[in-house]
Amino acid sequence: MESPEPQDGDSVFAHIPHVPEVPIYAMMVAFSKDPSPLKLNLGIGVYRTEDGQPFQLNVVRRVERLLVDDMSTSKEYLPITGIAEFNRLSAKLILGADSPAIKENRVTTVQCLSGSGSLRIGAEFLANHYHHQHTVYMSQPTYTAHPVFFSAAGLAIKTYRYYDPGTCGLDFQGMLEDLLSAPSGAIVLLQACAHNPTGVDPTLPQWEQIRQLIRAKGLFPFFDTAYQGLVSGNLDEDAQAIRLFVTDGGECLVAQSYSKIMGLYGERVGALSIVCKTAEVASHVESQLKLLIRPMYSSPPIHGASIAATILKDRDMYEEWSIEVKAMTDRLISTRRQLFDALRDRGTPGDWGHIIRHGGLFTFSGLNSEQVAFMNKEYHIYMPSDGRINMAGLGPKTVPCLADAIHAAVTMGV
Ligand code: PLP
Repeated sequence: MESPEPQDGDSVFAHIPHVPEVPIYAMMVAFSKDPSPLKLNLGIGVYRTEDGQPFQLNVVRRVERLLVDDMSTSKEYLPITGIAEFNRLSAKLILGADSPAIKENRVTTVQCLSGSGSLRIGAEFLANHYHHQHTVYMSQPTYTAHPVFFSAAGLAIKTYRYYDPGTCGLDFQGMLEDLLSAPSGAIVLLQACAHNPTGVDPTLPQWEQIRQLIRAKGLFPFFDTAYQGLVSGNLDEDAQAIRLFVTDGGECLVAQSYSKIMGLYGERVGALSIVCKTAEVASHVESQLKLLIRPMYSSPPIHGASIAATILKDRDMYEEWSIEVKAMTDRLISTRRQLFDALRDRGTPGDWGHIIRHGGLFTFSGLNSEQVAFMNKEYHIYMPSDGRINMAGLGPKTVPCLADAIHAAVTMGV
């Protein structure tokens, strides 16, 4: 049925219903309005200082000063695919300097609007040009925006088992079974490391088994990497899973984000790499990516990618950055230990060893939505209802407050 003609003075948009705010953004608003001096934000996925303040890497500050003084820089439009040097260096960062795919010129990389934009362009590319299966399998649970990026491109979403609430670890058997029963050709979204929201990653031998299964079944891997270096403290080590899938000669997509690893969140720096079988295919793919990007936003922004490229191409700056990534990781690991110790000291019921075993920014705490709501009401702690804790939002001063809150929530009504 057609909508009635708008009356004079009515908005042509009057029929549009209001939709509720996306939960994580609604939480940010609630946090900012909370007047309590004790409030603690463990929700939004950003790396913070020990005092919960926004964090900037020293090497990034240094590069920004250099860029301001560099008279050779320009603000004119970038090509559709962004800064060529940034693209080349991004592929090298994730695939490795000695990657066979890079040497054989069969990778095409385009600068995109951070990890989100890379996932979205990758999804759109598959929807348009991948003709085997328009179903994407993603881990259960996964980053809340993943289904949105892929369903917006018209792809169907299914899940594979991933997290085992019993062990607070990987349901490896369940994952293999579900991938085994996926139809041949289906797309499989994989998080390369520091799985969001659980903090649980497969081991390297498990990745090798996953790779064998994916290749044997003709499934298509799409990697999301937003936390390279923040699990082991080493940029190469955290790229191992992806590199396994590239050295086997097969094809894959990789969406890369510089938000967390260089602290460039709002600069929207990321890259989509498509690893192909031949250089000719890669060049055709790139031409099609241009056709997809042009009607969406023409070309990406210049500043953030210039920062990343400057760091990636300079040996000293790269070294300085690697050291900062290691320091960030060390702090995450030490915070995990502090929280575990604090819960043990309080005699909080339950086995909290998973807090130490998990890696990256997040820990799937095991707290249920009722306990999370209680901690929010009584202790002004903000975290998603699934119990995900951002470890980077904590420091030595706030760990005891969180441990008190968890203890009270867990023993509530006992
Ligand atoms: N992928 C994962 C797993 C993430 O956790 C995030 C952000 O939290 C992203 C992608 C996208 O991040 P951005 O668009 O800021 O690069």
